[in-house]
Amino acid sequence: MSALGRTAHPGAAIARIAMPLRESEAIVLQSYPLGEADRLVSFLSRSIGRVRGVASGARRTKSRFGSTLERLSHVRIWFFEKETRELVRISQTELIESFLDAFRDYASGVGLAIVSEVTEAVLPDREASDANFRLLLLTAQAVKRTGKWEVPLAYFALWTVKLGGWLPPLDACSRCGTVLTASEPAYFSRSSSALVCGKCRKPGLRRIPAPALVAARKMLAERLDRLSDADISNAAARELTEVALDVIERQIDRKLKSRALLEPTA
Ligand SMILES: [Zn+2]
Repeated sequence: MSALGRTAHPGAAIARIAMPLRESEAIVLQSYPLGEADRLVSFLSRSIGRVRGVASGARRTKSRFGSTLERLSHVRIWFFEKETRELVRISQTELIESFLDAFRDYASGVGLAIVSEVTEAVLPDREASDANFRLLLLTAQAVKRTGKWEVPLAYFALWTVKLGGWLPPLDACSRCGTVLTASEPAYFSRSSSALVCGKCRKPGLRRIPAPALVAARKMLAERLDRLSDADISNAAARELTEVALDVIERQIDRKLKSRALLEPTA
């Protein structure tokens, strides 16, 4: 750059200094075609949280990004931040673990699509959250390893609610304080995200069977990969998923698109 150029654009040199190449572990949340050759990628980086960026040339057949930008790919990513722009420029990626195989099963794919949509929706821009990062990875790995999605999705949804600070007390009625026992159902109010006992129930509340409440307590006390199949039934997991997704939709104030793909329980 000429001396004249520097004088003409005094901010140019400063901007370059403020744009270091960053490196982070990350999980791809969504990726969309952008223009003819690029992709717009939303990812959860371990170091700075949820970020959106452009991967130039990622749609070309021989792209340097290969299949690293598929949904939920666990990657190491290098990117440039631009102070004045929301989007980062993705420079390079390296695959750590792919979850493409888990998406091949339709039902598992729906479960994982919900997981990535929820993460994208609930986490604020650029706020690192190691707990959410680990939850996302643990969930994807459980679906991949077991070929089952019901318990991992319920675990993910419940813990997302807990980490968001939106979990109502599970052990006592929110109106009268009666202890909610392991043998009786509780009732969930969508409008207030609270649990009440059988005596305080009103029409229109969702009934949560006792096994689902027991399952929730187990999930909050144990790591997903340490829960055994015998611990939690698919039916209990589905109940919990529905309730937790209701809480999440209320918080984000909109419906989750991928939730509509969940087939109703028989
Ligand atoms: Zn009550």
